[in-house]
Amino acid sequence: MTLLQDKIAIITGAGRGIGAATAEAYARFGARVVVTDIDLDPAEATAARIRGAGGQVLALRCDVTKDGDIEELIGQTVSTFGGIDVLVNNAGYTWDGTLHKMTDAQWEAMIAVHLTAPFKIIRAASPYFREAAKAEIQQHGKARARKIVNISSTSGTRGNAGQANYSAGKAGIIGLTKTLAKEWGQFNVQVNAVAFGYIDTRLTQAKEKGEFTERDGSKIDLGIPEQMRQMATMMIPMGRPGTPEEAAGAVVFFGSALADYVSGQVLEVTGGM
Ligand code: NDP
Repeated sequence: MTLLQDKIAIITGAGRGIGAATAEAYARFGARVVVTDIDLDPAEATAARIRGAGGQVLALRCDVTKDGDIEELIGQTVSTFGGIDVLVNNAGYTWDGTLHKMTDAQWEAMIAVHLTAPFKIIRAASPYFREAAKAEIQQHGKARARKIVNISSTSGTRGNAGQANYSAGKAGIIGLTKTLAKEWGQFNVQVNAVAFGYIDTRLTQAKEKGEFTERDGSKIDLGIPEQMRQMATMMIPMGRPGTPEEAAGAVVFFGSALADYVSGQVLEVTGGM
């Protein structure tokens, strides 16, 4: 029996970075994984690696800011695997700017993806958490443990200049986490958040690479200036950014039975910062 044996886990934004590493780790520990991303190709690529390693996986396209995609995600998960045990709200990106120059679109996009989307996904999944637990309690006197893991950031726990929008979304998800832990504790659902510091992914790559992502017609630069990357590294006691695989470790912990009595917590994963 491995740590996540037969658990059904949804991981959003799992086409690359921390989400992909988390999906692969979950599968390695025995979970049946739903790998979703805004683009199907990267989701399929993660799923192919999981399948290649003998894991069970479903790849789906899901833009977490679109209501119809959320309904589809929950529906397809349940019709394929029969329920949901773990939901990891990981999908996201950054759209930085100093507050006095920040547009409404920049603000709204970050609140939408980092706070409203997790809220709507959890609400759509609630029958498979609350109602499923109620039925188990009625039948066996006890519900099995189910988990929600929300991905936050030290920008949310501590603030970060140039990221008022992102920080607000990542702080908001902590409030949601702590409140839901109180609402759903009675159903044996543990709700926790992981706040990462600096993890080496496309989100934090050198801006000089000139890559961008597109959202609703806006071109958004990816990455951060090389000088800031170096400064951020100097602040880390371990002297380096974390790898996506190291980041995934904390998400595995919260999704597993090792955390069955841990709820409403925020774990900072920062290399000691
Ligand atoms: P990556 O960019 O490597 O991966 C994020 C994935 O989420 C991408 O595939 C991205 O797609 C996808 N995504 C973005 N928007 C949506 C959407 N609307 N619907 C579905 N998928 C979407 O970033 P990370 O792995 O670094 O980030 C993962 C999470 O960790 C994010 O929530 C991030 O804020 C958080 N985090 C990361 C830190 C870091 O240092 N890397 C630090 C603190 C928190 P696409 O590539 O097309 O945009």
